[in-house]
Amino acid sequence: MGISQVTEDPSLVRELMAGAGAALLEERRLLRPDELAALAAVPDRSVPALAALAHEVRLAWCGDTVEVEGILSAKTGGCPEDCHFCAQSSRFDTPVKATPFLDTDEVLAAARETAALGATEFCIVLAVRGPDERTLSRILELVPLITEETGLNVAVSSGILGPGQAQRLAEGGTHRYNHNLETARSHFPQIVTTHSWDERWETCQEVKAAGMELCCGVLLGMGESDPQRLELIGQLQELDPDEVPVNFLDPRPGTPLAIRRPVRPLDAIRWIALFRLGLPRTILRYAGGREITLGDLQTMGMTAGINALIVGNYLTTLGRAPQADLNMLADLRMPIGSLSAAI
Ligand code: SF4
Repeated sequence: MGISQVTEDPSLVRELMAGAGAALLEERRLLRPDELAALAAVPDRSVPALAALAHEVRLAWCGDTVEVEGILSAKTGGCPEDCHFCAQSSRFDTPVKATPFLDTDEVLAAARETAALGATEFCIVLAVRGPDERTLSRILELVPLITEETGLNVAVSSGILGPGQAQRLAEGGTHRYNHNLETARSHFPQIVTTHSWDERWETCQEVKAAGMELCCGVLLGMGESDPQRLELIGQLQELDPDEVPVNFLDPRPGTPLAIRRPVRPLDAIRWIALFRLGLPRTILRYAGGREITLGDLQTMGMTAGINALIVGNYLTTLGRAPQADLNMLADLRMPIGSLSAAI
């Protein structure tokens, strides 16, 4: 079935879902591209059923634990790259101004706040193309300090890595490295011109080869087509990251994507479910843009395949209060914990 052929026949939709359920829950195999394409085309009224299947798959493959993470923008703005969604690019006239690397005390204070929320992971994020020697040395100073002080696993996001840098980060105690593919290879040139999708892919491979966990996120709502979203799921199946943060575009003033409209809430649920069905064993994390995209459907995402959250603020946008997320998890009776330990 082609993706544009939305089947209106309820019995055919049930058959599609049953086939996907049997593949993922009984045969324990990944879905093929044609199976995912057929599921992507179910009508809106079947999205809750698609979400329910994705939730069942998440429980069967990942357990009921939810991983909570805090992120800190340790060096904000002034980035030379031109990612069209990003308010931190120095090429666009945005309200975000460049600030230098935060002091050690500021980073440790943020890590302590994150630990106090019951989180297990803390990610230091830097707006850079890649780390120069001075930046890498600062990161390597901070990682063991944070671990000693808070017991948190430390993740780092510092762009494209040069020769030997992944190895040094791994040896320095970095638990997970974040480097997003953002979008499908075929759509990437519309979004970024200063580096290539292949450069991102190579850094992801180096992270894995160095023995760190790979966190490789996506950003939906940048004008990509449904087939391109499916292409991205296929590329992630091949890369097999430990974690995929799912971001939705929150159009930032001054960026080339400022005039785009956010993804519709039910479409966001549809694609969360599809990413879970395509990536059954991966940590799927709620990330930026979920508040403006999902509105009242935020809780539904937690029963559509999501099993991790970024709490608090994002890099340049405000998230909702961490307590609102913790209350949501308590209401859903979803335990907070470390997924690496739970699986
Ligand atoms: S997404 Fe990262 S690399 Fe791209 S402009 Fe923003 S900070 Fe720079």
